[in-house]
Amino acid sequence: MSVQVVAAKMAEVELKDVPNKELSAVSPVAPKSDEKGLSNTDLNASATSPTVEPAVKGDPSPLSSAPNTAKIPQASAMKRPDPQQNGGEAFVNRDGTVAEAPRMKKIQFADQKQEFNKRPTKIGRRSLSRSISQSSTDSYSSAASYTDSSDDETSPRDKQQKNSKGNGDFCIKNIKQADFGRREIEIAEQEMPALMALRKRAQGEKPLAGAKVVGCTHITAQTAVLMETLSALGAQCRWAACNIYSTQNEVAAALAEGGFSVFAWKGESEDDFWWCIDRCVNLEGWQPNMILDDGGDLTHWIYKKYPNMFKKIKGIVEESVTGVHRLYQLSKAGKLCVPAMNVNDSVTKQKFDNLYCCRESILDGLKRTTDVMFGGKQVVVCGYGEVGKGCCAALKAMGSIVYVTEIDPICALQACMDGFRLVKLNEVIRQVDIVITCTGNKNVVVRENLDRMKNGCIVCNMGHSNTEIDVASLRTPELTWERVRSQVDHVIWPDGKRIVLLAEGRLLNLSCSTVPTFVLSITATTQALALIELYNAPEGRYKQDVYLLPKKMDEYVASLHLPTFDAHLTELTDEQAKYLGLNKNGPFKPNYYRY
Ligand code: NAD
Repeated sequence: MSVQVVAAKMAEVELKDVPNKELSAVSPVAPKSDEKGLSNTDLNASATSPTVEPAVKGDPSPLSSAPNTAKIPQASAMKRPDPQQNGGEAFVNRDGTVAEAPRMKKIQFADQKQEFNKRPTKIGRRSLSRSISQSSTDSYSSAASYTDSSDDETSPRDKQQKNSKGNGDFCIKNIKQADFGRREIEIAEQEMPALMALRKRAQGEKPLAGAKVVGCTHITAQTAVLMETLSALGAQCRWAACNIYSTQNEVAAALAEGGFSVFAWKGESEDDFWWCIDRCVNLEGWQPNMILDDGGDLTHWIYKKYPNMFKKIKGIVEESVTGVHRLYQLSKAGKLCVPAMNVNDSVTKQKFDNLYCCRESILDGLKRTTDVMFGGKQVVVCGYGEVGKGCCAALKAMGSIVYVTEIDPICALQACMDGFRLVKLNEVIRQVDIVITCTGNKNVVVRENLDRMKNGCIVCNMGHSNTEIDVASLRTPELTWERVRSQVDHVIWPDGKRIVLLAEGRLLNLSCSTVPTFVLSITATTQALALIELYNAPEGRYKQDVYLLPKKMDEYVASLHLPTFDAHLTELTDEQAKYLGLNKNGPFKPNYYRY
């Protein structure tokens, strides 16, 4: 379906600005802990946490007066306590270069550095993994790049480049790749219908007029669609990469050619990384008033180096688990000096990242690494939460015989009702062809299990932490490790038995495949709406705290994606709305509802 057709269909969706009464509802239910490790106590607290009053009815939405456009619902957001987090893992490029597993230690901010190296080392990978955040590892963003940065040894910092209009306010690998990058962006646009719709709806109106957004995210085709949308909505953008390996050089080139001040390339050194961030914010005559961050490095750089900038900053939008965690820490310490939006915990992002993304990418990750045939294979999936459900559904559809292990009787019963055999790992470990962990727990597969696996068994992890499989226990003298492909190791026992270990136990899909653009579209749309909301919020709506976007916004993000499927949403009648005690325009569920 063409972008035009998609955009035209968008116009059919109409959401009205309504006060969000449910926001302050007290949950009678204590949801189970989620993958971020939220305890029941935390979640109970979240359900009852104080909320800011919802937007006043009639308060004009930033896009509300655009002709023939649906309103972007506007409401103040929910506060939520700090989610805990678990371990780290790795980011691995498609070309096999590995950013080692940065653990969940606090990053070492380069705040002591007063000067940047004049001639940076080409790559400082080892030190990098220690010193910058793991944002790419917890946002599950697509980060594949088809370009090889090794073709030109000169550091971009040593090059003088200008775009075709003579503008040189950027630092990227090679401006000549702009045409290639533009094609990549156009492909991404096809799968990011909501952002394209926002652009269309904003015609004539600029809800971000005057916004000076400084961003630090993966610089990929999907991010480019977001940046160009923000620009269409009136924002000026300066951008750096949140990960040293994930920049698509050709996309950075296309953005620079389009007039964006981008400072990023694939394979930055640690010094480059901070230098790029600094170039985004340290500019004569230009000060950011909004931050869009993924991992918290940009936010912390400004905190450490330019704290006065916060006087002009209206808000922070943060995407990742790590960055959100840091914001909550700042908030707890009373050091958060502007409002912040936690995009990571939005309902739609969670659902799409966990269930749907994994349902698609588990097969891709396994196929790319092993060329395995799924039909008839016996697979055990450890954990039947969102990720496990996605993996099981995909494998079952391919004809695999799927077993499930669980500790939670509710999820266990769900697995049974979905037609999976619930087993203990030991009961099937000798016979299965593939073992997949997705529990968010540690030591789910231990050496004893690995010893009992049959020859050729494939072992991989889809959970956040690389400790789900006790890989360390395989590093003993009697076992031989053989790297057979990028991300594929054979671990060989003395009797010749070998298991196939993928990505050394790190997140399989992040390490070995890509994430569907449509999933990223959900997140990017949420980010754009969060920026609009924070930028346009009247004084006092948001305090110096961390907020979740309200459910109504989540519903709006979902509704913007529906026309892609030519989906027709049923509207409540007045009578039905009254019967259910709902506003006809949502929100349709209480905050404690588990989708
Ligand atoms: P979830 O909490 O919904 O599900 C995890 C399940 O594992 C729970 O039902 C829990 O009872 C079960 N479990 C815990 N310990 C177990 C054990 N020892 N044996 C068997 N089952 C056990 O979480 P989720 O949303 O499914 O996420 C799972 C993990 O995947 C998290 O670490 C999350 O961060 C990660 N994640 C990965 C991706 C990805 O793209 N690969 C995307 C989102 C989340």
